[in-house]
Amino acid sequence: MNCVDLKQTCRSVYNYAHAERKAWLESRKSFVNRCSIVSEYIIPADTPFPNYNNQAKALTEAKNKLPHLKLVNAQTLQQVLKRLDKAWSDFLKMPERGFPRFRPKNRFRSFVFPQLLKNCLDNGRVKLPSIGWIRIKQSRPFPVGFIPKQFQIVRKASGYYLMIIFQSQESVPDPIPGKISLGIDAGIESFIATSSSELIKSPKFLTRALKKLKILQRRLKKKIKGSSNWLKLQNKIARFHEKIANTRRDWLFKIAHYLCDQADNIFVEDINFKSWSKGCARKQSLDSGIGGFINDILPFICWKRGKYYLKVDKNYTSQICSNCGQHTGKKALSQRLHVCPKCHHTESRDTNAAKIIRDRGLVAVGHTVPEKRDNAVLGVSPMSDCRKKACGDDATGVKQLTLFNLVGNL
Ligand SMILES: [Zn+2]
Repeated sequence: MNCVDLKQTCRSVYNYAHAERKAWLESRKSFVNRCSIVSEYIIPADTPFPNYNNQAKALTEAKNKLPHLKLVNAQTLQQVLKRLDKAWSDFLKMPERGFPRFRPKNRFRSFVFPQLLKNCLDNGRVKLPSIGWIRIKQSRPFPVGFIPKQFQIVRKASGYYLMIIFQSQESVPDPIPGKISLGIDAGIESFIATSSSELIKSPKFLTRALKKLKILQRRLKKKIKGSSNWLKLQNKIARFHEKIANTRRDWLFKIAHYLCDQADNIFVEDINFKSWSKGCARKQSLDSGIGGFINDILPFICWKRGKYYLKVDKNYTSQICSNCGQHTGKKALSQRLHVCPKCHHTESRDTNAAKIIRDRGLVAVGHTVPEKRDNAVLGVSPMSDCRKKACGDDATGVKQLTLFNLVGNL
């Protein structure tokens, strides 16, 4: 059995289980003493809802009748059912997400091996449960001293990829606050503003590529839907999108490293980017990937580099003067400059907010913020007991390291 067949089996299990749940739900639509206008399956009243446990049990029984299910690793199929279960419970929690759908070929892209065989890694190849040895294009050496915990195979436009999760028993202390601090404000005009008065512009990856995308999409319209040329072009567009996403991700990681080069403590504001991206900054914020940067990439790089990362209160950051602490009142979004009526301090609105964020972070970790005065240079004195207060004694714990970058052609 190869990966394509395996994916096909997983998909059929997913769709079957989804149909079963849907049929149960629809059979309960009309009253007991009436018939549905649309034809429905008649399911006895005492049949319980096919939840995860019931379906996993039924799957084990189904293996006796359908021998091809036996070829697939049992846990892989259970993971498929778990994923369906999650889709349903997410829908019940947040109906605006939409009802779970059947998965056509192009909507089923990955599957998981939650438990691995012993000695499953070798130079340039890995051993997958129920498939056997598979050659991979190994992008980097496997880390020494780590135990592989999970494989996930993902299909992207450019090919199949293998992701491996490694675990270490080593306890890694959480980073402690250091000397130099940096506040970061997510801007609208620029990507981010830092408290060292730097504005970093977003390269606008998607906006730049839109022209080429438009040409490709126009060409796609002229092709017959489903023809081989249509499929080829479809794949080309998908590869192009993948390339944009990869370029963006690469840039975001570089920016995160660049910020970590400058400081020991990094403070950001605690923004709900989901609602932010629905508002006026929609297109820019989606193109730049600011939410993922602040919430996922930056904390990860900070942890990796041993830098201290903290989210602080976001309220009024754009309304307070970073020089004298005066509340200047609400600014219109178009007003890009901060001019203080009290001390006449003039600065870009975003870097001013970044400085407020840095000061709040300093207070939160117990450092002293120098007194507000004209042209104040904020130097911070570290205090050992403050550090203890901020980190506590339980600065240890097993960390799980995830490596995303095992690129393989399966
Ligand atoms: Zn002022």
